[in-house]
Amino acid sequence: MKTIELIVPCYNEEKCVRLFYEHILEVFDKLQDYKFLITYIDDGSKDNTLYEIKKVVSASADNTRGGGIQYISFSRNFGKEAAIYAGLSRCSGDYVALMDADLQHPPELLNDMLYAIEVEGYDCASARRVSRKGEPFIRSTFSKAFYHIMNHITSIDLVSGSTDYRLMKRNVAEAIVSMTERERFTKGIYSWIGYKNKWIEYQNVERAAGKTKWNFFGLLKYAYSGFIAFATTPLRGVVYLGMLVVFLSFVFAIRLYISAIHNPQVVRTGYSGIMIVMLFLGGVIITILGMIGEYLARIYMEVKGRPIYIERESYMKETETAEKERET
Ligand code: UDP
Ligand code: MG
Repeated sequence: MKTIELIVPCYNEEKCVRLFYEHILEVFDKLQDYKFLITYIDDGSKDNTLYEIKKVVSASADNTRGGGIQYISFSRNFGKEAAIYAGLSRCSGDYVALMDADLQHPPELLNDMLYAIEVEGYDCASARRVSRKGEPFIRSTFSKAFYHIMNHITSIDLVSGSTDYRLMKRNVAEAIVSMTERERFTKGIYSWIGYKNKWIEYQNVERAAGKTKWNFFGLLKYAYSGFIAFATTPLRGVVYLGMLVVFLSFVFAIRLYISAIHNPQVVRTGYSGIMIVMLFLGGVIITILGMIGEYLARIYMEVKGRPIYIERESYMKETETAEKERET
């Protein structure tokens, strides 16, 4: 029997912990062929979240079908990305799902996700919101712009409306954990690791209780860090800008030369000369800065220590013979 492990990051979700558990029980009643395990990650909540989790743990003690409920509690608020990392790096289920505690990620979708993985042969299945009902206009406008920019400027593909809600095989979870970078932008990481992913669409659902942890500036910061984590192309833009400015200085010089030939008698002020020197030097400096930036970006990417490749599956003659040799 396979185990489905649900990783649930919770930050100040005292009202949701219990609701979530009860709702999940209903869904799992219909999935009799699986064991389940819920891992709550208490991300340094300031309210009674941990207490509620402990209550749920003891309430579930007599539920024999699942692998039960476990939790990790952080010493302070490290953010949702850290919570996801903690959950994934210690996961043990055959399938691992990431789910918000506020029931905005409908657990019913697990059926479709399981179908995609087990029957259709995908490695993971992710939920994608097709409506942004109930979301402030300004927020949806900005997030659309963000996706647009990311897809054009960085090498990764982000799908608009994609959420963190996904079910994956264990090896996909391991691949995510193998990205050891500190500044984690999970949506980019999902895209970077590859694997066959199926998008499952759903209508936006409002929070079951409590309120969102995101404000506008939080989202802006999130977007910026995602951009910096995956985009090095803007630096190339800086180099081009520098070159353009140098080119402008040449244009100025040629203009000055031509006017000097045509009207040699006109007294020339120093304006054009100064412009030429300024543009030339400015351009050279910008170009060099851009190049230094590119080096920095490479160092930054190297320091992240990402794996060079991630394997989906393999059949290797060498390992097989090596194993045989070891057996004899
Ligand atoms: N969360 C977390 N740490 C944080 C902020 C949020 O673990 O610092 C959790 C939160 O408890 C919830 C999920 O991440 O389960 C999504 O947060 P929220 O519902 O506030 O985001 P939204 O759905 O509005 O994007
Ligand atoms: Mg939410």
